[in-house]
Amino acid sequence: MERLTPVEQRAPGRWQIGTVAAIRQETPHVKTFRIELPMWVAHLPGQHYDVRLTAPDGYQAQRSYSVASSPLDEGSVELTIDRLADGEVSPYFHDVLVEGDQVEVRGPFASYFVWRGESPVLLLGGGSGIVPLMAILRHRRRTMPELPMRLVYSVRNADDVIYADELGDETLLTFTREAPGGWAGHTGRIDAALLDGTTDTSGVAFVCGSNGFVETASRLVLDAGYDPRSVRTERFGPT
Ligand SMILES: Cc1cc2nc3c(=O)[nH]c(=O)nc-3n(C[C@H](O)[C@H](O)[C@H](O)COP(=O)(O)OP(=O)(O)OC[C@H]3O[C@@H](n4cnc5c(N)ncnc54)[C@H](O)[C@@H]3O)c2cc1C
Repeated sequence: MERLTPVEQRAPGRWQIGTVAAIRQETPHVKTFRIELPMWVAHLPGQHYDVRLTAPDGYQAQRSYSVASSPLDEGSVELTIDRLADGEVSPYFHDVLVEGDQVEVRGPFASYFVWRGESPVLLLGGGSGIVPLMAILRHRRRTMPELPMRLVYSVRNADDVIYADELGDETLLTFTREAPGGWAGHTGRIDAALLDGTTDTSGVAFVCGSNGFVETASRLVLDAGYDPRSVRTERFGPT
């Protein structure tokens, strides 16, 4: 039998079998999965895990999902997954997995799109791109709530707002397709006027979402005066 040191057993590159401990419906097509891990290691907010599905005939599909939870939640990670109607992996999570099921994962990964306590921070998220940003917000609330942090969150309509109950005063929401009735806030895509005054441009900006969202939003923060070395981006879109 293969003998591994405790450090090797916990290496992020090793696949491990997690157990789905809880499933939460966030929006009509987004669910959060809390996965308990036998070889859990603390992640840095912003990092992701890989998940791997294996069909009975051996066919495998692998995708990346950002951790939504704070590393203070020992022993498990929360993954928040948007169901793509014609997708392979996300519909499996939504339609097949139930609490108690097992799933193969490995991680955490990424050394660049991580928050290590820098401040001030501007978070820019489009759609499910809010997931790693929520890990940053949650961790900051539990460890350094006094640190200045702003979240600018772009969604299509009210049904698409993930973590609605947790969005506080630091959040600027904009609806790109249809704002809820009586909405007096921002509508339309993120633009320079929306970012104006959101944060000190000497800080760090995290931008996450589809390819198009990341292109537009990162150009806006650079135009606003951020140093390119202080702008970290993560793209969820198809490659
Ligand atoms: C570092 C990283 C972190 C990620 N974190 C998350 C996360 O926290 N939550 C989350 O929901 N997703 C996340 N993603 C996206 C995720 O990895 C998958 O790409 C997504 O779930 C689609 O997989 P699928 O198998 O369901 O669809 P696929 O079978 O891969 O694709 C189905 C169709 O959708 C298109 N497509 C693929 N991905 C996307 C996308 N993201 N947006 C729009 N169209 C797409 C494909 O071109 C194809 O036409 C992340 C991606 C990366 C690289």
